[in-house]
Amino acid sequence: MQVLYPGSFDPLTLGHLDVIERGSALFDQLVVAVLRNPSKNPCFSVEQRLQQIEQSTQHLSNVRVAAFDGLTVDFAHQCGASVILRGLRALSDFEYELQIAHTNKSLAPQLETLFLATATAHSFLSSSVVKEVARFGGSVGHMVPTGVAEDLARLFNQ
Ligand code: ADP
Repeated sequence: MQVLYPGSFDPLTLGHLDVIERGSALFDQLVVAVLRNPSKNPCFSVEQRLQQIEQSTQHLSNVRVAAFDGLTVDFAHQCGASVILRGLRALSDFEYELQIAHTNKSLAPQLETLFLATATAHSFLSSSVVKEVARFGGSVGHMVPTGVAEDLARLFNQ
């Protein structure tokens, strides 16, 4: 089964990576797709984010990394994916994720959205928290892959 894991990944966290590793074990092929969304005013360029994900998923032979714009359902169709994978941390994620899942279902009824519950150890992790801590010089080594920690240190001149 071909599965699409879309997101901003600005930057990739260990929470995302955990979802990717578990998805890779569950499905035949996993495409991690970075949404080109300039309106979100990202810290890292799409190219940097692709590189961060590629570097951190080298050990997973059935994981492919791509960038996309437009509708997720259209990109899923282009990839031949029958499932969209998303992660759930807390109740606060649920409302937003459910709304997107229903929207996508209304656009593409054949496409299913599956959710993986966050690993407890990563339940507090988000890209914004990581950026906030890194911006003020805090240690993020336990929150992101090594390459991402280095990129954050460079970004915030540490
Ligand atoms: P988006 O802007 O599309 O929400 P994100 O990069 O913030 O993109 O998140 C992509 C997906 O990964 C979302 O489904 C989000 O809930 C999930 N996710 C983010 N952080 C974690 C985490 N720590 N554990 C599990 N899932 C997560």
